[in-house]
Amino acid sequence: MPAMESFYNLSFSDLEGQLKKNGLKTTAASLLFNWHYKKKNISPCVNNVSKDTISYIADNYNFELPKIHTVHEAEDRTVKFLFELSDGRRVESVLIPFHNKYSICLSSQVGCAMKCSFCFTGTQGLKRNLDASEIIGQFLGANQWLRTNRPDEERILNIVFMGQGEPLHNFDAVKKACEIFIAQEGMSIGIQKITISTSGYIPGLQRWKNEIPGVNLALSLHAVDDEIRNELIPINRKYPLREVLDYIDDLPLSKKQFVTYEYLLIADLNDSEAHARELGELLKGKRAYINIIPFNPFPGSNYQRPSDEKADGFKRILGEYKIPTLIRKTKGDDVLAACGQLNTAD
Ligand code: SAH
Ligand code: SF4
Repeated sequence: MPAMESFYNLSFSDLEGQLKKNGLKTTAASLLFNWHYKKKNISPCVNNVSKDTISYIADNYNFELPKIHTVHEAEDRTVKFLFELSDGRRVESVLIPFHNKYSICLSSQVGCAMKCSFCFTGTQGLKRNLDASEIIGQFLGANQWLRTNRPDEERILNIVFMGQGEPLHNFDAVKKACEIFIAQEGMSIGIQKITISTSGYIPGLQRWKNEIPGVNLALSLHAVDDEIRNELIPINRKYPLREVLDYIDDLPLSKKQFVTYEYLLIADLNDSEAHARELGELLKGKRAYINIIPFNPFPGSNYQRPSDEKADGFKRILGEYKIPTLIRKTKGDDVLAACGQLNTAD
């Protein structure tokens, strides 16, 4: 008998297809999505579903979620989860609070192949891709934890792929997870609530327009100058920034949609007034938001975080170019839960 597949790898149309193939009523797909994704039950769905369907599901699919290995709760209510996957590998996810709602920062790979010089995950290399069920599982696992521990706050409204891994380097699984998140019959999360952050992996950008239209894009820009960007993001040599920007400029945006450009600010490397002006010139007139991320140091890192005054000055200059700019406040840094500090070895 084949190993049981995870139910959480099935998109709504996959599930309909499987039911049909097995001579079962496809209307059960809505009931199952409603039960497992809208109501977020992990127990089998028995309401209004035929006996044959119940046994087909029980015989062929499992509903196992990644196990929570450790949870760290920060002063500011940020929650960092270390999840253990079925093969013992670990990934992290972070719940980031705003009022009594949350954004969730999801991982897409164990480790990452891109080896950016400022990134803790990059130091580990790529161990493996996650499948859709392991991406969905982080969301459902965190949701279960909220249900038990903060029952009035079971509201995860935004999804950002900014944890471990380069999401576009695991395109198929990330795409399938997005399809499951947005399915009307299930979680029904608006596509405009999902953001994928990329270091500029062109093979994924080429597929974006046709396969995941409407998802928000964040580009890890970090430098306008190719020499500095090559040092920070080695794949810039293969996929140079100018080409990356051409693909991004070509994406159709809805009325209210912007592209986010993340700019990691590192002391004495890319934080001068001239760098700010270069950035302003590059992005002025585009539908752009800039997110300045002051570098988060980690043990063994060679870069320094700039002062708050330096970051404020950088932001002020971008204001002259009329580009909306935010300095990302580091949330949860008392438990090393800030983006880019995710680690699989606890
Ligand atoms: N691989 C994707 C998404 C995950 S990284 C990407 O690179 O875009 C999410 C964000 O955290 C990226 O903008 C990344 O550049 C940033 N980041 C990584 N290491 C960091 C660090 N040490 N300090 C601050 N931000 C960091
Ligand atoms: Fe990978 Fe993103 Fe880290 Fe670069 S910054 S190594 S792409 S996770």
